[in-house]
Amino acid sequence: MKIKTAEFVISNTDIKKCPEPTLPEVAFIGRSNVGKSSLINMLTQKKNLAKTSGKPGKTQLINHFIINEEWYIVDLPGYGYAKTSKLNRFKWTKFIESYLRERENLMNTFVLIDSRLEPQKIDLEFMNWLGHHGIPFSMVFTKIDKLSSSELQKNLAKYKKEMLKVWEALPPVFTTSSTSAFGREKLLKYIEEINGLYLKG
Ligand code: GDP
Repeated sequence: MKIKTAEFVISNTDIKKCPEPTLPEVAFIGRSNVGKSSLINMLTQKKNLAKTSGKPGKTQLINHFIINEEWYIVDLPGYGYAKTSKLNRFKWTKFIESYLRERENLMNTFVLIDSRLEPQKIDLEFMNWLGHHGIPFSMVFTKIDKLSSSELQKNLAKYKKEMLKVWEALPPVFTTSSTSAFGREKLLKYIEEINGLYLKG
């Protein structure tokens, strides 16, 4: 898929204020600092579309971007920031939970995972929650330029092993680097396919 246009639409904390669900959308979510903004900018080839912020936990908003005037990228708040107060975290969870469970045009959620790390409890728990609620998701391993291909394979295998302890099958898995744009074509092709399912009704 060619990205012709990519524009910011709206930020909000209320799912009722999100754009009318008349176009398909895909969401991106992950721990703070996982590389989500960089990935959105890499996919859209727009340097500052999603703000790459040095302050994890700061952006607690649902951000909609419209792509080619045909579909939305949704940038969801990063989770797991230690300094977020318990109360805040609770609110965050409810707000994201209702978005993920209720948004009728949401075709897929991309769960971003830092490819350098050992399987993280919070990521596994979040994916288990998605699976439990039947919310379609994929795993996107970020920053793969930061490790060798054998280290990457080792880390992927560890995650797969953890997932297979709970689930019979794995979701789609993507590997990306925002610095080299590795994985861009595959991810866009996948989005094009799933958006096609929406258009077929
Ligand atoms: P976010 O908080 O998830 O939106 O993360 P950012 O996109 O702001 O990225 C966090 C940090 O990781 C920044 O310093 C980025 O430059 C860096 N980063 C993000 N993606 C990559 C990548 O693919 N490769 C490398 N080497 N660094 C990355």
